[in-house]
Amino acid sequence: MDRLMQWLAPKGAMGFVLRLIGLISFVAAANVAFGVFLDDHPLHELSYYFLHATLVGGPLIAFFLAVSTFQIRLQRRLWLLSRKDGLTGLDNRRTFFDRADKRRKQGGRGVLLMLDADRFKNINDTYGHQTGDSCLKAIAYLLQRNLRDGDVIGRIGGEEFAIYLQDATVEQARVIGTRFTIPIPFKGDNSPHLTITLSIGAVIANPQKTLDEMFISADKALYHAKENGRAQMIFWDELRAADRVRI
Ligand code: GH3
Ligand code: MG
Ligand code: MG
Repeated sequence: MDRLMQWLAPKGAMGFVLRLIGLISFVAAANVAFGVFLDDHPLHELSYYFLHATLVGGPLIAFFLAVSTFQIRLQRRLWLLSRKDGLTGLDNRRTFFDRADKRRKQGGRGVLLMLDADRFKNINDTYGHQTGDSCLKAIAYLLQRNLRDGDVIGRIGGEEFAIYLQDATVEQARVIGTRFTIPIPFKGDNSPHLTITLSIGAVIANPQKTLDEMFISADKALYHAKENGRAQMIFWDELRAADRVRI
């Protein structure tokens, strides 16, 4: 049913007219069939059936097409609301988890980055919530612009983002991540030009670790990045090798 509705719902004015003509023709053909097989009366001119279909079926068909367009738009809006973050347009937490887990299960190399804006509360407190929102949008824009096809990115919390780097070596992940620790410029409506930095906890994918476990590790690395002075990236795997985290 979903597919049928998708197919029937017009995409634009032209689609609307074409579908209207198509469906009216269908009703006219049904009228002819009715005339031939069921009606006692003699057959009319073909134009009679078309006129009949247009006048009787036309308004109903137009109404149906309008309703189906509205329904498809509503469905799309609901889909966006449930899958995307309204402020930045990035995947939301749930979508990120779904997509990153798919990538992880495909196997191969991968690195999970957990990124948190540094002292973000100060921006809200000093320049207002709207400036804070502009800052989040600037971060999302920069992150997105620096990723490759196949990478997954999401806003997983207030000022927290996550990235799953598909097929990335540790060195590549370090280069990409380190770029994100450089101050990011942004400007709110009523604020001067400002910058914000990110702290990043990273973990290398390994087949023994679920995505949830990778998140726990990345969060620990992120904690160390904050403790160590912020605006930096720390790999959980290196903390682990140095015996600075237990799991
Ligand atoms: P830290 O460097 O330790 O991460 O400090 P922080 O200030 O970034 O962290 P904290 O957790 O203290 O503050 C996060 C703030 O983010 C508090 C919350 O009001 C704000 N925040 C969360 N979501 C949004 C949002 O959508 N828009 C704005 N403007 N602020 C948000
Ligand atoms: Mg945070
Ligand atoms: Mg923060």
